[in-house]
Amino acid sequence: MYLSDQSPYYQDLFRTEGIDIQSISAANLDQIPFTTKTDIEKHNTAFEAINRKSIVEYVTTSGTLGEPISIALGQTDLERLAYNESQSLGLCGITDEDTILITTTLDKRFMAGMAYYLGATKIGATVIRSGIGDLHFQLDNLNRYRPTTLIAVPSFAHKLGLFLNTQNIDPANCSIKKIICIGEPIRNADLTPNTLHSKLTDLWNCPLFSTYASTEMATAFTECEHGNGGHLLPELMIVEVVDDEGKKVEDGDLGEVVATPLGIMGTPLLRYKTGDMARLYNEPCICGRNTPRLGPIEGRKKHLIKLKGTSVYPQQIENVLHQIDGINQYLLELSHNELDMDDLCIYLAITDDLNIETVSNQLSEQLRVRPQITFISDKEMSLKLKAHKSRKPSKLLDLRISN
Ligand SMILES: [Zn+2]
Repeated sequence: MYLSDQSPYYQDLFRTEGIDIQSISAANLDQIPFTTKTDIEKHNTAFEAINRKSIVEYVTTSGTLGEPISIALGQTDLERLAYNESQSLGLCGITDEDTILITTTLDKRFMAGMAYYLGATKIGATVIRSGIGDLHFQLDNLNRYRPTTLIAVPSFAHKLGLFLNTQNIDPANCSIKKIICIGEPIRNADLTPNTLHSKLTDLWNCPLFSTYASTEMATAFTECEHGNGGHLLPELMIVEVVDDEGKKVEDGDLGEVVATPLGIMGTPLLRYKTGDMARLYNEPCICGRNTPRLGPIEGRKKHLIKLKGTSVYPQQIENVLHQIDGINQYLLELSHNELDMDDLCIYLAITDDLNIETVSNQLSEQLRVRPQITFISDKEMSLKLKAHKSRKPSKLLDLRISN
């Protein structure tokens, strides 16, 4: 097997754990210990299964949970990514007739933008590599090329839609006919559309498709037109969802996503614990596909907050904030207090006469928590958001992890 021949880390693991890799199949994969982000951080180069001459590219994770880790890609990994994304875009109904505006980062060692580019061109679609931000440049692209599909972080798609309104353009009547949403969930845990989804639909009046992937697993889960969770590409990955003890949870129960991507050349991983919490559904989808579907990411395992005995994920707080009118921007700051308990401070930049009580009551009603809330100006918010360097527009500062 490739890993026992090529991966120094797994050679060592199989030897110390006494694992005969020949006897392992998908059915008894659970005999292999999990690989964690910390394992990769500690032994990053030992995970590389090819030499530098065969590495065509290095990409890194976003580092939202600590130091970014390097993933080496070989030539076949690029081809695999192109296949993965062509299948994934195919689930959203993208064909060679489409023109796609990619508004995610295409450089900075980022895998996602490059993967979309490879997949879209493999399908034969036309691509506009627009990159992140710059609303006037996005408008220029919309006017010049009349793209049919937008690939964007949902909150950016929202911002772009509002900007078009200020330019006397109705997003619902522009050339965009579907939006592929990455990085932020657009559904509630029960798969119903969340507030962000509704706000986007109100603006753009077109179907939204959620897609979830990570640099380490190099494989995407993407929704079909029924929005019933992201379909697994079973030829590219084995997925497990496990509880705190590492045992598989029941179908539809919340647990940590564990990924074993298949056919990786550069940095192959076995049973990688992603840290992402979600639910897996095995019953066939309305679309007729039998592949398992993954629900929205409900939180990051490490970001779980315990506030006076109530456990809550930052994502749940964000979902409530999205429902409240008058919030321009927000930042969640997590820290440990002097008693080593979790503390959450929510910074809000607001538009009109919103008061703290309204926000506090909403959080209390829906999540039974009353964190500290501070109103700050838009300028102060921009400074705070700029202060932490991230490629993603992060709205969470977890001082418990980086300290
Ligand atoms: Zn489906």
